[in-house]
Amino acid sequence: MHIPFNKPYMTGKELWYISQAHASGHLAGDGQFTKKCSAWLERRIGCQRALLTHSCTAALEMAAILADFQPGDEVIMPSYTFVSTANAFVLRGAVPVFVDIRADTLNIDETRIEEAITPRTRAIVPVHYAGVSCEMDAIMEIARRHDLLVIEDAAQGIMSSYKGRPLGSIGHMAALSFHETKNIISGEGGALLINSPRFAERAEIIREKGTNRSLFFRGQVDKYTWVDTGSSYLPGEILAAFLWAQMEEADAITKRRLDLWGNYHQWLANLEKAEMVRRPIIPRECVHNAHMYYVLLPGLAQRTAFIEQLKAKEISAVFHYIPLHSSPRGQAIGRFSGSMLNTDKAGDCLVRLPMWLGLEESQSDVIQTILKLLD
Ligand SMILES: *Cc1c(COP(=O)(O)O)cnc(C)c1O
Repeated sequence: MHIPFNKPYMTGKELWYISQAHASGHLAGDGQFTKKCSAWLERRIGCQRALLTHSCTAALEMAAILADFQPGDEVIMPSYTFVSTANAFVLRGAVPVFVDIRADTLNIDETRIEEAITPRTRAIVPVHYAGVSCEMDAIMEIARRHDLLVIEDAAQGIMSSYKGRPLGSIGHMAALSFHETKNIISGEGGALLINSPRFAERAEIIREKGTNRSLFFRGQVDKYTWVDTGSSYLPGEILAAFLWAQMEEADAITKRRLDLWGNYHQWLANLEKAEMVRRPIIPRECVHNAHMYYVLLPGLAQRTAFIEQLKAKEISAVFHYIPLHSSPRGQAIGRFSGSMLNTDKAGDCLVRLPMWLGLEESQSDVIQTILKLLD
């Protein structure tokens, strides 16, 4: 039987909540389910405001508008990330400046950020890869010293924390994803989290096509009108109803994922001892959410062969990012600072193993197959 890399998990209540949204007659955004989801995020993450969006990409775009990026402004980020981390800022004319990742967590190397700062630098975008936090104390301190914004790309980071603080609550803003490949899903979906009060009101306006409609609905203004730049980033109630079913189960989902993660980690320990693979490293100050289980092989040839051999055994394992600094668009408009050694290595050597709820039944087959292939 084929074992996929990902399989969206349904809690069983999604359709019931969608039918409630349908029956309520409120299908546009900001109805009961949107409110439940936002309140849940605000409570669980401890952010000042949580605004649902259509995607993490949309949330990052909103952050770039809120930060008033101007053409030529620079934004520091890892190259080992998804394209949206860069695109959201590129849409405003900003230049992504790529910094290498750490060898251990594969997150942006905080010790290399300062040398990438120029008079045009406006923001740092740390990406919490695999739901494991970046070194946020150091990053926030650099941002404070140079008066930069920190926008967390926490697409993979829901339910994770750094020194006890939930990811998404630390930067000035953060973006979450509920894409079906993430831990908590609504097919497509995301949220913008705001921790700096100065951004809260304008964020609602940007999300509502540049109008002050949210203030109007709350009775804070007596008519609504066009007041700022904006677009349509507010998802409808059907999406929020689906998402609510997932949020209710977030603790149980995370626990089951952590069990699967732990099984891989335990059973692949000997391969690491034999130097066949390198397993994920979780720093002591980080609690992660088992978004991903990956291993690093010694090189590109070994990785290609490994993925092919697993495929022949009906198991889908996949590599991850082609680093942005070596992509055609990244080369055309980005710049990189310093060496990209660890980034290039992750680009060549990393393989993600199947990780989804329901894998419990076949995970030992996956592990046994890997052990046979690499022993
Ligand atoms: C998934 C992901 C995104 C994009 O999320 P969407 O909701 O699909 O827009 C952005 N950044 C990272 C790091 C991601 O993993």
